[in-house]
Amino acid sequence: AQLDTLDIIVLAALLLGTVAYFTKGTYWAVYGDPYGNSLAASNGAAKAGKSRNILERMEEQDKNCVVFYGSQTGTAEDYASRLAKEGHSRFGLSTMVADLEDYDFDNLDKFPDDKLAVFVLATYGEGEPTDNAVEFYEFIGSEDVAFSEGGSIDDKPLGSMKYVAFGLGNNTYEHYNSMVRNVDKYLTKLGATRLGAAGEGDDGAGTMEEDFLAWKEPMWAAVTESMGLEEREAVYEPNFEITEKSDVDAESTEVYLGEPNKNHLEGSQKGPYNANNPFIAPIAESTELFTAKDRNCLHMEIDVSGSNLSYTTGDHIAVWPTNSGKEVDRFLNILGLASKRHTVIAVKSLDATAKVPFPSPTTYDAAVRYHIEIGAPVSRQFVSTIAQFAPNDELRAELAKLGGDKDYFHEKISDRQLNIAQFLEIASGGKPWEQIPFSLMIEGLLKIQPRYYSISSSSLVQKNKISITAVVESLEKPGSPHILKGVTTNYLLALKQKQHGDPNPDPHGLNYAINGPRNKYDGIHVPVHVRHSNFKLPSDPSKPIIMVGPGTGVAPFRAFVQERAAQAKAGQNVGKTILFFGCRRKDEDYIYQNEWKEYKEALGDNFVLHVAFSRDGPKKVYVQHQMANYADELNQLLDQKAYFYVCGDAANMAREVNTLLGKMIAKHRNVSEQKGEEIVKAMRASNQYQEDVW
Ligand code: FAD
Repeated sequence: AQLDTLDIIVLAALLLGTVAYFTKGTYWAVYGDPYGNSLAASNGAAKAGKSRNILERMEEQDKNCVVFYGSQTGTAEDYASRLAKEGHSRFGLSTMVADLEDYDFDNLDKFPDDKLAVFVLATYGEGEPTDNAVEFYEFIGSEDVAFSEGGSIDDKPLGSMKYVAFGLGNNTYEHYNSMVRNVDKYLTKLGATRLGAAGEGDDGAGTMEEDFLAWKEPMWAAVTESMGLEEREAVYEPNFEITEKSDVDAESTEVYLGEPNKNHLEGSQKGPYNANNPFIAPIAESTELFTAKDRNCLHMEIDVSGSNLSYTTGDHIAVWPTNSGKEVDRFLNILGLASKRHTVIAVKSLDATAKVPFPSPTTYDAAVRYHIEIGAPVSRQFVSTIAQFAPNDELRAELAKLGGDKDYFHEKISDRQLNIAQFLEIASGGKPWEQIPFSLMIEGLLKIQPRYYSISSSSLVQKNKISITAVVESLEKPGSPHILKGVTTNYLLALKQKQHGDPNPDPHGLNYAINGPRNKYDGIHVPVHVRHSNFKLPSDPSKPIIMVGPGTGVAPFRAFVQERAAQAKAGQNVGKTILFFGCRRKDEDYIYQNEWKEYKEALGDNFVLHVAFSRDGPKKVYVQHQMANYADELNQLLDQKAYFYVCGDAANMAREVNTLLGKMIAKHRNVSEQKGEEIVKAMRASNQYQEDVW
């Protein structure tokens, strides 16, 4: 297989990691600061000097339970931490959390029978492993899996291993929870014994958290029985020690005020830029594609010249967000930390196997603003844990009730879309919750996640400028005292407003610190990295393509059409290019209207745009209706092996398009609907049908 840049970076980092391992103590500090420099913060080398031998690591740290995670957006990692924490506090297990990419697996055949392995595995995209689980998945699923002791699968090499497994998936995807299902199958086949059922959480149904909570109680019962454990009264033990350094000035050069790693702290950002090391990119241009009463849509041009960041059409760009000042203030106020917001704190892990999720020393303000996902939905388990730190008995009882009663919790918290600080504020009437340890907030809330955007420009046309097309999130729920404001998209909106002359942009009073730590993002900059995807145009431009992308789902298709128009202009033979786009109204949110005309000039009759307006006429028209209207033409193109692409809403649209296509094919080819579905499946398997959905 061809190596892309990311592979090369990963391989280089792994090689460095190996070198580092064999030279440990000579050139590297064994448990160095993972944020020490950008290279050390990238894959593999981040853990320079740490053994990749999980059994050795468990032995060395006296652990009898390892919780492995395969995580893309941080949720699986969070669940893994929660299981580790609970295993220790409730059942006395000596637990550790392990990133799957940090270890080798060839010695799992020596996994001791008095220890426990836990697997928390998210399924990504089309049934794929998360980036950090690729190697593990390939190893464990291999036909001739090679363990250190040799032997074949029939010898049951994992006969001594006990494990539990939970998967995070989305039922709107075809390969629902395939990671946990397959890994469970492989482990069983290799002779390992599962305790309890393999759990499955469903993000598509919005029940992930409840699925997790419902799965874990019987799982713990099976574990306690099998391992002869006894439940004890859970006492909270912090993972992190927070030391306030009142003698250190927040402006001192060694204090991280939001800089993601040491290079950034020292003021000279250095590549390679990746998921651990963002490039602070200038925003070359920003506009609003439309501004309606309750929605607006941004178009931005991010300049990556000189960064060595490269993309190909169809890739994703990740934007590293900053929390809004409004929510940072709320959070610090309700914890009673507002007056100490600029106090310097050193955060140290109390367990060598737990990572501090951000660089230290820092300040409360910087940790909350740049590193903790304070706006996210609140988990029921977290509310239970906080109960013991309530300011009075009444609130303690209320939180315990919320933790124990699913329906009550939904009514009071989830259905109102409250974040943690909004909830605590309402619950106590604004009285601060001063007893909640800051460590608990670091452990219980997610690390802030970069948000992905399907790049809406062609790398052929603008190699160094990456376009983003994003709708600004603003969700009003009846019964909620707060309008939910998307973290990243409102941050981007503030940047756009600043670029257009507003020196203190403040959309909705959110008050973003858009100049970044120590003003390093001044002059309209945003931290980004690029993620390569498999969503790709056919390499031969003469092949016909069909694209379905309503709303911002059109983003990558703007890139596709832009690319094909450029190819046509350059005299290349470009095939039929059909786009189904949908929006509410012609004069409201019909984005890129003028550009389509331009592309049409270059592509002529080979470019056809079918638009569906859902609110313009008496009848709601969606892209699916338009597809049905042009069924004959679509079928003919599919017969000619046209590539078929869908982008946008995973929950409804993408699934409906899939079903509809199966039916259209069945009718056209005069086969059963089941056969039609199978044809679509085969198209997916051969990459003729590609999805980029969220
Ligand atoms: P967030 O703050 O992350 O909120 C997002 C949603 O989470 C809210 O709408 C709400 O449903 C839920 N939520 C947040 N907080 C709470 C709470 N307290 N309680 C309950 N629910 C809550 N978007 C685009 O506009 N254009 C694109 O081209 C695009 N491409 C994408 C490609 C990929 C591969 C992926 C994975 C996503 C893509 N997205 C795209 C979506 C994008 O990544 C972001 O999710 C989106 O912009 C919202 O980000 P945000 O930070 O503004 O909102």
